[in-house]
Amino acid sequence: MPRCTWARELDMCSLVVTRGRDMPLALLTERVRCPACGSRRVALLYQTPPS
Ligand SMILES: [Zn+2]
Repeated sequence: MPRCTWARELDMCSLVVTRGRDMPLALLTERVRCPACGSRRVALLYQTPPS
């Protein structure tokens, strides 16, 4: 079974607008699903903005 390599940069602004700014990132991990293969085993990488 080939491993899915679909990857995108999430629009964090849209997520905050739709989910609320207090949504924990752990909850986001539970809710995301790969749009390509439908798998819920999704790895999220967080990148803090430079400043
Ligand atoms: Zn996938």
